[in-house]
Amino acid sequence: MWADLLPVGRDAATGGYRRHAWAPADLTCREWFAAEAVRRGLDVTVDRNGNQWAWWGDPDADGPGVVTGSHLDSVPDGGAYDGPLGVVTAFAALDLLRERGHQPSRPLGVVSFTDEEGARFGIACTGSRLLTGVLDADRARSLTDADGTTLSDAMTAAGQDPAHLGRDDETLRRVGTLVELHVEQGRALVDVGAPVGVASSIWPHGRWRLDLMGEANHAGTTRLEDRDDPMLRLATAVLAARESATEHGAVATVGRLAVHPNGTNAIPSSVRAWLDARGAAEADVRAVVAEVADAAGAAAVEESWTPEVTFAPQLRDRLAALLGGAPVLPTAAGHDAGILADAGVDAAMLFVRNPTGISHSPAEHAEDDDCAAGVEALAVVLADLTAPAGNEAAPA
Ligand SMILES: [Zn+2]
Repeated sequence: MWADLLPVGRDAATGGYRRHAWAPADLTCREWFAAEAVRRGLDVTVDRNGNQWAWWGDPDADGPGVVTGSHLDSVPDGGAYDGPLGVVTAFAALDLLRERGHQPSRPLGVVSFTDEEGARFGIACTGSRLLTGVLDADRARSLTDADGTTLSDAMTAAGQDPAHLGRDDETLRRVGTLVELHVEQGRALVDVGAPVGVASSIWPHGRWRLDLMGEANHAGTTRLEDRDDPMLRLATAVLAARESATEHGAVATVGRLAVHPNGTNAIPSSVRAWLDARGAAEADVRAVVAEVADAAGAAAVEESWTPEVTFAPQLRDRLAALLGGAPVLPTAAGHDAGILADAGVDAAMLFVRNPTGISHSPAEHAEDDDCAAGVEALAVVLADLTAPAGNEAAPA
């Protein structure tokens, strides 16, 4: 499975992945998912928001199931593991359960959420946010990529009808429990020497847009004192982001800019910058954003906000115990499991050690042995969650 996915959407020059929602590489990944499901005799469905599901058993007839999976799309020049590791291990864990003759007492599902990274249309976790109704369908349809293509048009071109986007109770009802496995996006597991960990919570986080206005003029003939250069305000804002984040124990990043007219020999007329800020507490994040806006002399327009997510404590503790006292750690990255947890689904996450700690980059990595440990951990967890009543495994 891993070898089949490796070449899909990989940029030859950078070695990074460009699997952006509804673009050709993403469609190839979607075909791969459907083929893997069919190969195993699972029932494949695509919900109203484009998320793919593969079921062993019938969640409509036999009640809500246990679902595992992640996403297949990537950030620009992303790594191989963020997302796909959770989907590949989901299928592999299901294979292990079958090899071991496990008869699930509840339906078991594999999911691939659509457009988790938001790389193309700007909003992360679009598939799960639409599913749970926290993203408005009309707003989603009108989201536009850098080429001016709307999400609506992109879905239509991919053969998916965007007319029925929005909260999908029929699909949500099928999900009793969700366990998402993900490559770790930091070095906490390296530090404690464990291949697999369990998530405790997701830091509150959001994205803001700053529009900095100035006056376009000649880079050579305009005297310094006559300039109104928005790039200087940007520089001040970026430095303020770093300083304020340090002060509040948060993180803040300006990683995306739109500069007009974007000429080497022109003072810009405007700079649009996007700020990503995250912290352990909402108040810290809000303080950082306010201080950055203040330094920029511009409003910070909120494009998305995700409150703190605390994963179901009982499920979290049960998983950690099942995995022999696996470390429990928070993360500063958003995930579909967090969106579903926020919507009241019993959700949990497993992390697989990433020796570089680097993510959203081709340097992202997980050793084969650790990936295999992830499959084993997922199989143990799924076996327990779908054990016939009274037959749950005794926590190790
Ligand atoms: Zn991810």
